[in-house]
Amino acid sequence: MKTRIGIIICGLENNRQYVTDAYIQAVKSAGGLPLVLPLVKSKPTILEYVTLCDGFLFCGGGDITPLLFGESPSFGIGNTDITLDLFQIRLMKTVLSSQKPVLAICRGMQILNVACNGTIYQDLNETTFDTMNHMQASLSRKDISHKVVFEPKSKLHQLLGNFAYTNSYHHQAIHHLGKDLVVSAFTGDGIIEGIEMPSRTFVVGVQWHPESMLESAPNMKQLFHALIYYSK
Ligand code: MN
Repeated sequence: MKTRIGIIICGLENNRQYVTDAYIQAVKSAGGLPLVLPLVKSKPTILEYVTLCDGFLFCGGGDITPLLFGESPSFGIGNTDITLDLFQIRLMKTVLSSQKPVLAICRGMQILNVACNGTIYQDLNETTFDTMNHMQASLSRKDISHKVVFEPKSKLHQLLGNFAYTNSYHHQAIHHLGKDLVVSAFTGDGIIEGIEMPSRTFVVGVQWHPESMLESAPNMKQLFHALIYYSK
């Protein structure tokens, strides 16, 4: 059987649970078996999902309820769904306990950080330093928007080299880094664009959307290939 990659649902809308197709196709074309994991509240069911899958992909989506990282909501916060947040954080913690691999994209990276007791800038206007606009205005998600530099010896450096040009679709960013995580990528304005958990074989978070760049930047396929490689 192919390597089973659990793709956690991106969100809920009108009583439906959904995953954006690009994530499913990215796992499929990298040689994995994509399995969509729905939102459930039962802890034993979550444990069964974690046992079932070899690796996990956490996707992009809306904002995380600030109370879950110990803050009151600020005026810059976007749409949140605490049911989804609690499910994804619980699942992430269960996956991390299992030692199994994780690729966490955009909101997924924020979930990884919050699951490790880190915090989020609710909006980039709240940083104490000047930042660029990380919500790009181009029409296509394939388009690059800024340069990301990778830390030497990190997984992201191994996979993508010294730097990459990426898209950017976020108005939030990691503030305080969670326990057992290290920063492995950042932009010139000091915003964290990648994190990793060195105590695991492959737990990597990226702030950009590699699943939308596979045609314009084929090296981004390395991230999905690596998730599947380490999940075997
Ligand atoms: Mn960015």
